[in-house]
Amino acid sequence: MKRHYAALTFMIIGSLILSGCANGTKHKLNSPHKLTITTTLYPLEYFTKRIGGKHVSVSNVIPPGTDAHSFEPSTKDMIKISDSDAFIYNGTGIEGFADKVNETVKNEGVESIKAAKGLTLEKVEHRDEDPDEHGDKDPHIWLDPVFSIQMAKNIEQALIKLNPKAKADFTKNYLSLKKDLEKLDTSFNQTIKNSPHKEIIVSHAAYGYWEHRYGLKQIPVSGLSTSQEPSQRQLQDLIKHVKAKHIHYVLLENSASDKLARVVEHETGTKTLKLRNLETLIPKDAEANEDYLSLMQKNVQVLKQSLK
Ligand SMILES: [Zn+2]
Repeated sequence: MKRHYAALTFMIIGSLILSGCANGTKHKLNSPHKLTITTTLYPLEYFTKRIGGKHVSVSNVIPPGTDAHSFEPSTKDMIKISDSDAFIYNGTGIEGFADKVNETVKNEGVESIKAAKGLTLEKVEHRDEDPDEHGDKDPHIWLDPVFSIQMAKNIEQALIKLNPKAKADFTKNYLSLKKDLEKLDTSFNQTIKNSPHKEIIVSHAAYGYWEHRYGLKQIPVSGLSTSQEPSQRQLQDLIKHVKAKHIHYVLLENSASDKLARVVEHETGTKTLKLRNLETLIPKDAEANEDYLSLMQKNVQVLKQSLK
């Protein structure tokens, strides 16, 4: 029912946009010299700003602090996307609305750029019988610095296509970002390699790529999406495991899924630390001028402490 309603809304918005642009001209809100870009997840906003530099004006449609897994764009968001030169999305299933956006804007001269193009996503095994409507691939690729380099490369290539005259700047900026991401990769690698144990308890299963890349093991309270809550028995098993393994920390993330992680914390007497899943930038971090790199370094420090 909800799904049909959403589809109808998109059709109405689509026809509004089409009728508004019947003469085929685009109504750019920004300076003609800058590309206007809309992004979905915070890391895409950060990568695009770094690579695009002075040649782009970037705005993110998922507001700070909201749950990216359940976000739906408003009519205003759809118009903003339609008015932009390019829409950059992750494209790993986390943005449930991306297909509809792409369909709505495809005749609007908006370039759709899938940041995950060419990446091989990890499959995740379901822990219950109920198949997840979000699919079984892990969408959280931006938490892996090595995958982030490839996403940045895709963004660089797309920007060059949109504005070939600025190619030298885009490439220079991409190489500087790549260097930062390589340093981050080294930090994760060293920290996890040198830690006495490798298990973390997390709110939702966002950290699968740290398992594959660095040998960490995440034990999620909720599933791959924040909406996949554990059964009572799964929750009890997890509490038993934390006690038996003498795990000292539960890692929260400032999202809805923290509620159940709090139950685990309470039942096991563990302490809590905050991990950033970076799906959105939380307002407190934005105010403190934190960015993707500084927050990922904070994640490294949280791992260091919780893996003791
Ligand atoms: Zn997530």
